Amino acid sequence: MTDYPSLHLLIGGEKLGTDGRETRDVIDPATEETIGSLPCASSDDLDRALENADKGFKVWRNTPAPKRAKALQKAAQLLRERSDEIARILTREQGKPVPEGKGEVLYSANLFDFYAGECQRIYGRTLVRPDGQAARIEYEPVGPVAAFAPWNFPAINVARKVGGPLAAGCSVIVKPDEETPATGLAVCQALLDAGVPGEVCQAVFGVPDDISRHLLGSPIVKKLSFTGSTEVGKHLAKLAAEGLKKATMELGGHGPVLVFDDMDVDTVLDQVVPAKYRNAGQVCVSPTRFIVQDSIYEKFRDGFATRAKAIQVGNGFDEATQMGPMANARRPDTIESMIADARDKGAQVLAGGERVGNQGFFYAPSVLADVPLEAEIMNEEPFGPVALINRYADEDAMLAEANRLQYGLAAYAWTQDRARRQRVTRAIEAGMVALNGTNVSAVDAPFGGVKWSGYGSEDGAEGVTACLNLKSVHETL
Ligand code: NAD
Repeated sequence: MTDYPSLHLLIGGEKLGTDGRETRDVIDPATEETIGSLPCASSDDLDRALENADKGFKVWRNTPAPKRAKALQKAAQLLRERSDEIARILTREQGKPVPEGKGEVLYSANLFDFYAGECQRIYGRTLVRPDGQAARIEYEPVGPVAAFAPWNFPAINVARKVGGPLAAGCSVIVKPDEETPATGLAVCQALLDAGVPGEVCQAVFGVPDDISRHLLGSPIVKKLSFTGSTEVGKHLAKLAAEGLKKATMELGGHGPVLVFDDMDVDTVLDQVVPAKYRNAGQVCVSPTRFIVQDSIYEKFRDGFATRAKAIQVGNGFDEATQMGPMANARRPDTIESMIADARDKGAQVLAGGERVGNQGFFYAPSVLADVPLEAEIMNEEPFGPVALINRYADEDAMLAEANRLQYGLAAYAWTQDRARRQRVTRAIEAGMVALNGTNVSAVDAPFGGVKWSGYGSEDGAEGVTACLNLKSVHETL
């Protein structure tokens, strides 16, 4: 077990604790124990954060790119040095197995390193006219960013939210999730310890809707960055639209996985089963709807269920644990009700379909097959450890199912036929596609969706350009 750190707001480089502020409890999802007391920002705190962000922006936008890069590199190094400690804090507040938490911290470090390089490659261009006149296209940081990160990846989500803006020369006020605050604070602290000024990277907590209304209602904030549900995303997009603020929206998904009958079933299962239950399925790019071609359907479905039943569920601190608890009490409640609805409508429950133990937010790795399309779980993001497996006759039917929903985040296809891979890639409505694999995320590739999964990208060069404005300068010689 780990000592859980005391919690604070991070405003202007100062750690502001619970004294005189409303508080919220932080709960260990494996034990339901209260492990921390989190201060909520008052309206005055938020005004101070905004003033700082305004000042910080003026400093950071004028800080030369190599100096910004050095700070990001140093923060990456600090995250690596602190990764064991941060991973244990992450497991305590979020539940996932410690090695998964450590992987998250290391990914965050790699992202800062990537952005350190990328911030030195913010090039404009010059248009030279035949008469000797010229126009310059220049990039400028958009301004202070208000960023809201969820609880499922408490390190990566915060690193994504702050990394792009800082690389671009923006200041940022981030709200890590109130349920997983200490990991987000550790990421921000690494940046401050690395030399990012306290006015440039700040962290606040409170009632999410109060904070987002306050920050987005301020003319100081020039950009919104949000990761979370489509429903909240639409609400925040409207708030941002009132101030015509730029926005990056990374919202829900319902990942279709097309498995064609030219594949070896065990080869596919070896990869998709661990991917499905990673982070107890609480992953926006989780493979969810398994769209399986007729002749391999039974073998795939039964093999999936056998493997799901073998997954070791337990406290994320136990070395034997392969899947931890869900992150909060809402998740098993939602999964339970979605599975009951699917069962009532005729789905077969081949694995799981029940809670595990009577303490903590544990839910068994579950497999549902022959799930009617009208079941809620086939239409709403389950965000939990549930695989939905259905049978389809051919490529057209499989693609129709893949594109049936409004979600368009990650999609997966498994086939040995190269021409079919190309057809499927073109036809599929998604921001990210994995072919014969399960990974859709890399620090140097844009991460984001289409349709109701949002717009804009994080990671990759696009994670920086998303925080830049263009200025065309027409100079008369
Ligand atoms: P939720 O939809 O209320 O919250 C999702 C996230 O948005 C949380 O981090 C929350 O703090 C934040 N949030 C909520 N209202 C906000 C507001 N007005 N302003 C700013 N931030 C706000 O509920 P939840 O139970 O936390 O999550 C439920 C669903 O959210 C999941 O089923 C899943 O679909 C989605 N989700 C997606 C991601 C992702 O990575 N895309 C991450 C977490 C949750």
